[in-house]
Amino acid sequence: MTCQNAILGARSTRRLPPRIEAVAVALRPYLPIVHLCMFVGFFVLIVGPALLPGSEIAQQLGDLARFLIWTLWFPLVFISVLLTGRSWCGLLCPMGAASEWMNRIGRKRPVPGWLRWGGTPIVSFLLVTTLGQTLGVRDYASAILEVFGLTFLAALVIGYFYGQGQKKRAWCRHACPIGLLLGVFSRLSMVDLAPKRPKAGGDAYDTRGLCPTMIDLRRKTESRHCVMCARCVNPDKKGGLALQFRNPGAEIADIRNHHPSSFEVWFLFLGTGIALGGFLWLVLPLYQNLRQATVNWVIEHGYLWLGNPGPAWLMSVHPDAREVFTWIDFFLISGWMIGVMLALTVVLAALQATGAWLAGRLGAHGRFGERFVALSYQVAPPAMISLLLGLGIDLFGLVPQAAAASVKVVALGAAVIWGGWLGWQILKNLGLPGARAAVATLPGLIGGLAVASAWWPAIVG
Ligand code: SF4
Ligand code: SF4
Repeated sequence: MTCQNAILGARSTRRLPPRIEAVAVALRPYLPIVHLCMFVGFFVLIVGPALLPGSEIAQQLGDLARFLIWTLWFPLVFISVLLTGRSWCGLLCPMGAASEWMNRIGRKRPVPGWLRWGGTPIVSFLLVTTLGQTLGVRDYASAILEVFGLTFLAALVIGYFYGQGQKKRAWCRHACPIGLLLGVFSRLSMVDLAPKRPKAGGDAYDTRGLCPTMIDLRRKTESRHCVMCARCVNPDKKGGLALQFRNPGAEIADIRNHHPSSFEVWFLFLGTGIALGGFLWLVLPLYQNLRQATVNWVIEHGYLWLGNPGPAWLMSVHPDAREVFTWIDFFLISGWMIGVMLALTVVLAALQATGAWLAGRLGAHGRFGERFVALSYQVAPPAMISLLLGLGIDLFGLVPQAAAASVKVVALGAAVIWGGWLGWQILKNLGLPGARAAVATLPGLIGGLAVASAWWPAIVG
């Protein structure tokens, strides 16, 4: 295989002009300055309001932090993933850079098994998302400080202790809840880095190379762990990685050749479900009815302690803003989120299992488990767009309501169709011809519609 063919690998990809790589290489020495500025900005916005409680400056900093995080950062990072993969992680994120810096001065121990376990970032995501809801992370500066501050602290501690070799990011690869989210959706990205001289054998873990997220560069086929730091890029060398353009979703369409992971698939189901639950309790009257019924039950049975406020590090206790959560609220919000998560996971898993079973009956290659994992990736577009529209709702608040509603409906419809199309491509790559692939895609398409409909109240209000 020639070098060029090796990079292209498929008709849907082509190498970007080397001068773009040259720009990336030229800008690389300035990244530490960018990271330092981001760190200072992060510190001022997150810690500042807590250091100056009650002051006018603290109020303004808190408002600014909420605007930057929820109105701009969250939706724009999602959009950037579609265009340039995890460029946020490699170029701008102060948390990943600080974790790597701690690794330089730290113990450099081998990454332990519990951290390498594929479920660790899922647990981390579920905990952070649930805690964010019970604390009111979208509304209160103290909650932002606790959630982002603790996450930052964990990144520093893990960076200090773990990651052999120089400049490693064990936190980013194995535990960051945001990294997992961005990693799954980076598989949809239009830009990727691929080895110029690929080595057979599929993806591998390499603690000795220069990649901060321990990717064996010559065996790289998946984009989820690549933070786009461009350290492996040099247009003047024959080796290393080259920037390539590809059709959006091309990696998922051919997922069986890009190291599919059952953990990622379960995260797609569970993560979408928990985020959905975290939004629906705010907007559905059903939750308020459930709360009222629970309060009545608690009073009738004499469990009055459940009506007391809990600790402020666990739930929202803000008498000045007239919001004081009791233990009832804490258990109900977390229970509701877990319930919605499990319900959506059961529905999506059942639909994807039906599609995988049907595909097998119709002649697709592979065992049932392999087909299930591969096909389940078709949930990625509706899951991503739903999260973007639902959790990035403040960004859409900046434009007129009618225009925002039209954009949301079109984006959601396009995401469902895109998911169905990806399912069809996945099945074609599993050896199922067109018409039969279309039949086996139907359950997955219904799954995409289920995700979109579940988010509907949150999206259209
Ligand atoms: S994985 Fe997390 S900590 Fe690392 S760079 Fe990305 S967002 Fe930042
Ligand atoms: S593969 Fe290259 S660009 Fe991606 S994280 Fe590793 S060194 Fe950075």
